[in-house]
Amino acid sequence: MVIYNCRTCRKMISVSNIPGGSPVAKADSKNWTSEYGVCEKCNEIFCKKCVDSINKKTRIGKCRVCGQQIKIKGR
Ligand SMILES: [Zn+2]
Ligand SMILES: [Zn+2]
Repeated sequence: MVIYNCRTCRKMISVSNIPGGSPVAKADSKNWTSEYGVCEKCNEIFCKKCVDSINKKTRIGKCRVCGQQIKIKGR
C-alpha cells in the first residue's frame, strides 16, 4: 500500500491493490480516503474533496493550484 498526503487538506490517501480499498482507510474515512487525483502539470496530489468542480460522470475535475484537468482515481 502506498500512502500520499493531500496537498490541500493533508488527508491521507491510500493507494491499495486490495479490491474495495484498504480496510484501514475504510474504517477511518475522516482521516483517510482512497479517491484521489494527480495533477500532471504541478505533480501535486489531491484527495477527491480537494479537486475542484468534479464532473460526476467523467470524474474529471480541476487542480486547485494550476487549473489543470485531473482525473479522479480510486474508489
Ligand atoms: Zn484534500
Ligand atoms: Zn496543478
